Amino acid sequence: SAIAAPPALAGGPAAPYLNPRLPVSQRVADLLGRMTLEEKVGQMTQAERGAIDGDRSQITSLNLGSVLSGGGSVPADNTPAGWADMVDDYQSHALATRLKIPLLYGVDSVHGHNNLVGATVFPHNIAMGATRDPGLVKREEQITATETRATGPQWVFAACVCVTRDVRWGRTYESFGEDPGLVTSMTTAIEGFQGRGGRDLADPKHVLATAKHYAGDGDTRFGTSTSGTYTIDQGVTITDRRTFARIDLAPYVAAVRKRNVGSIMPSFSSVDWTEDGVGNPLKMSAHTELLTDVLKKKIGFDGFLISDWEAIHQIPGDYATQVRTSVNAGMDMFMEPYSAPQFEQTLLAEVRAGRVPQSRIDDAVRRILKAKFDLGLFEHPYTDRSNAGTIGSAAHRAVAREAVAKSQVLLKNSGGALPLRKSQKIYVAGANADDIGNQAGGWTVTWQGSSGNIIPGTTILKGIQQNASKVTYSADASAPTAGSDVGVVVIGEKPYAEGVGDVGNGHTLNLSDADKAAIDKVCGAIRTCVVLDVAGRPQIITDQLPKTDAFVMSWLPGSEGAGVADVLFGKRPFTGKLPVSWPRSEAQEPVNVGDKGYDPLFPYGYGLRTRR
Ligand code: BGC
Repeated sequence: SAIAAPPALAGGPAAPYLNPRLPVSQRVADLLGRMTLEEKVGQMTQAERGAIDGDRSQITSLNLGSVLSGGGSVPADNTPAGWADMVDDYQSHALATRLKIPLLYGVDSVHGHNNLVGATVFPHNIAMGATRDPGLVKREEQITATETRATGPQWVFAACVCVTRDVRWGRTYESFGEDPGLVTSMTTAIEGFQGRGGRDLADPKHVLATAKHYAGDGDTRFGTSTSGTYTIDQGVTITDRRTFARIDLAPYVAAVRKRNVGSIMPSFSSVDWTEDGVGNPLKMSAHTELLTDVLKKKIGFDGFLISDWEAIHQIPGDYATQVRTSVNAGMDMFMEPYSAPQFEQTLLAEVRAGRVPQSRIDDAVRRILKAKFDLGLFEHPYTDRSNAGTIGSAAHRAVAREAVAKSQVLLKNSGGALPLRKSQKIYVAGANADDIGNQAGGWTVTWQGSSGNIIPGTTILKGIQQNASKVTYSADASAPTAGSDVGVVVIGEKPYAEGVGDVGNGHTLNLSDADKAAIDKVCGAIRTCVVLDVAGRPQIITDQLPKTDAFVMSWLPGSEGAGVADVLFGKRPFTGKLPVSWPRSEAQEPVNVGDKGYDPLFPYGYGLRTRR
């Protein structure tokens, strides 16, 4: 058969792969030479915490390479020690395998270590895009890396370097913006997570990063056209190769060549080259040209590809076809949360039947092992908890607060409505003024996020109260009094994540009736009225804007609402700029700078400045 006899060598104490003084490439080659096919396939497999927690011996019996916490899959004891104890126990099961290959643990730290109650929760990426400050993004991710690794996980499924071209997409807030140049500049996020990569990864202040979702996830067709009906999330990017390279691939070139990103997650979406004729979309998980020829060979990516959650199940055909197609296209590790045993059996059979070349398996495993050696896991497999005391610290929160302040975009300010003054009688209205869950958005403790007091931090109302003593608040905008000097209405969205936020999927860019009524009521009763929009993307404000004196886009600020008050009261200047074009109506989407006849309500880059 094509398969060499399984090597018998285990890893005695003198085995070269266990020698930290040898170069990583030599250690990888030595270890690979000792591994059986079963052990190799195990390294390519990632299971969900919830699937293995009840029987942790599966980590050993399946030779699992990795475990993840999908959104909201947190330990019962959701504390730094609860996490570290769990991850370390899983690790002990990985170290019980024949070759003692340590486990990689991955989480979605997409705006701070957001699964953990008590972590510093940063504004979502759309807000970071508004700061136009790549250095700040880097500092954000240094903090996120430190807080995450101190609790066990050594790998994050971030940064999202998607280029969002249609804000009706429910993942718009995970994007730094619509401009590929802006998104590319924010790949500093990867340096924040990883340092320079390589041996920097062994530092307990760093984690392995993932650039996602490769590529075109934010550039999908939406709605009905002659070629069909398209849903936006996990949809189809209909484009030509030149445009795809300019818009969708650009951030990955920087992520690989400049930032040395350790892993990349192929997108759920498909690509349809218009020159091939509409109607032939190919899933990214099956896309040999884009995964292997373009990303690995042409761009030069030498890290590993991790499939998205059950993404290969969307490839046409039976399970064996799905597995074979994706491995052969270039996928290296498989997020098969609840089907790890089935995945391993299937891949083993495909290799044994000669339908997946052994060389492809070796290439995948080499890439995965390199990351584990770089992370120093063979020397230090267990959690270094020495930085746990910095989780949610004042110093970390101060950086998040700075990010909040720098991300606020002032869209209107007439008659000197802003800055607010300490002495003013301020009437604050709207549920989003005093709800930390709403201001954090999706991917906060749970996948979808939720309203309510779910994490420690400061609400926007609290921030305002810290600056002024005559503040009254009403969640439903009842009884605004003409005796107030200024009304502050906080409108916006409620938390959501992924396809759930797609317009037409129970969601709209239009303001809710309650928000419209609150603006009407407060702006009608009080002379000066300021509106803050707490949302993951622009909302349609065309009719309401003329009724306001000032309008601020606050995005999803996270745990440090006081940063909003900092700019409202003039302690810091407004400097944020729109990272996306602001549409006049839902029907105007997609609208992007550079379009023919470009005529949004506010253009890309808009943002009034105030002096300090
Ligand atoms: C998302 C990814 C995420 C993964 C793991 C998927 O549904 O698309 O962005 O990293 O889940 O939680």
